[in-house]
Amino acid sequence: MEYTDLRSDTVTKPTPEMLEAMATAEVGDDVYMDDPTVNALQLKAAEMLGKEDSLFVPSGTMGNLLALLSHCQRGDEAIVGDCSHIYVNEAGGMSALGGIHPHPVKNQTDGTLALDDIRNAIQTEDVHHTITRLICLENTQNICGGVVLSPEYTQEVGKIARNNNLSLHIDGARIFNASAALNVDVKELVAPADSVMFCLSKGLVAPVGSMLVGSQKFIKRARHLRKMLGGGMRQVGVLAAAGLISLEKMTGRLGQDHARARILHEGLKQVRGLKLDASPASNMVYFDLLDEVKLSVNQIVDEIKKHGVLVDWAGPRRFRLVTHYWVDDVGVKKTLEAFAKVLR
Ligand SMILES: *Cc1c(COP(=O)(O)O)cnc(C)c1O
Repeated sequence: MEYTDLRSDTVTKPTPEMLEAMATAEVGDDVYMDDPTVNALQLKAAEMLGKEDSLFVPSGTMGNLLALLSHCQRGDEAIVGDCSHIYVNEAGGMSALGGIHPHPVKNQTDGTLALDDIRNAIQTEDVHHTITRLICLENTQNICGGVVLSPEYTQEVGKIARNNNLSLHIDGARIFNASAALNVDVKELVAPADSVMFCLSKGLVAPVGSMLVGSQKFIKRARHLRKMLGGGMRQVGVLAAAGLISLEKMTGRLGQDHARARILHEGLKQVRGLKLDASPASNMVYFDLLDEVKLSVNQIVDEIKKHGVLVDWAGPRRFRLVTHYWVDDVGVKKTLEAFAKVLR
């Protein structure tokens, strides 16, 4: 069966154009910095985000870890959202591998960390305390609903960072979704940040890879740490070739995914037994099952699958549906029909 797969935007397979570019990519040994396709990708990513340099990394998780390790020493502290991917979904890498102490701050429902909460989380100089080095934001914020942080808010956090001699890292796995949702150039969105990670492998459709972006000095340190972690890759231009197409062809179309997410949201509102979150800001539709629904989330996943649609639950009574390049209007319709039938 041809499935409509809404489990995540990570399921996006490469396009025929990407496969062609991968097959014909000019490559070299990237540990020698000899791979022209990787070099072109890194140049382009840095340019698009308005930073000096960038580094191709195997995953977003490694990109975030490299940022944490580059900004912080062992025993230092990083302020992170309590619903952030770094804090919740990266296997505790910052503490396990970096000896970095996370200082979780509550994520507000709009995805922000309250400015006063950030200020209060910064440690005062005291023999008892860790040393705060870093603030991490996430844009779009996944767990809060794929919500978008504004450039004004990010500026305010940047000011707090500068006034306290801290660095600011943005986990921008979906920063181009944020840029599309706000209709603001991604450069402006990340201007206050010292470093940014974004994923090529999600809404941008590439099969593998993320970019870490920042100053030349920062990227030099991150490249060294990437080698230490075993992330120094060789003829990896075969992957970077797809990433270049992500940047050239995929960043401009994300609004279509957001429009389809809003259509899904509107349609699911009409289905009995579902309580929808607010209209999606980007490509994620979150909703809960009402008590009247006797099926479990697992049973619903199984039933929906019989109608050719793959979905995943996000909690004991919660779902997240994610739109992407391979979800078209027919797929949206099929999904709405599947939910209507299963929850009839
Ligand atoms: C997916 C994701 C990451 C990590 O990316 P991987 O490539 O899956 O390791 C980091 N942050 C956020 C917000 C993500 O959604």
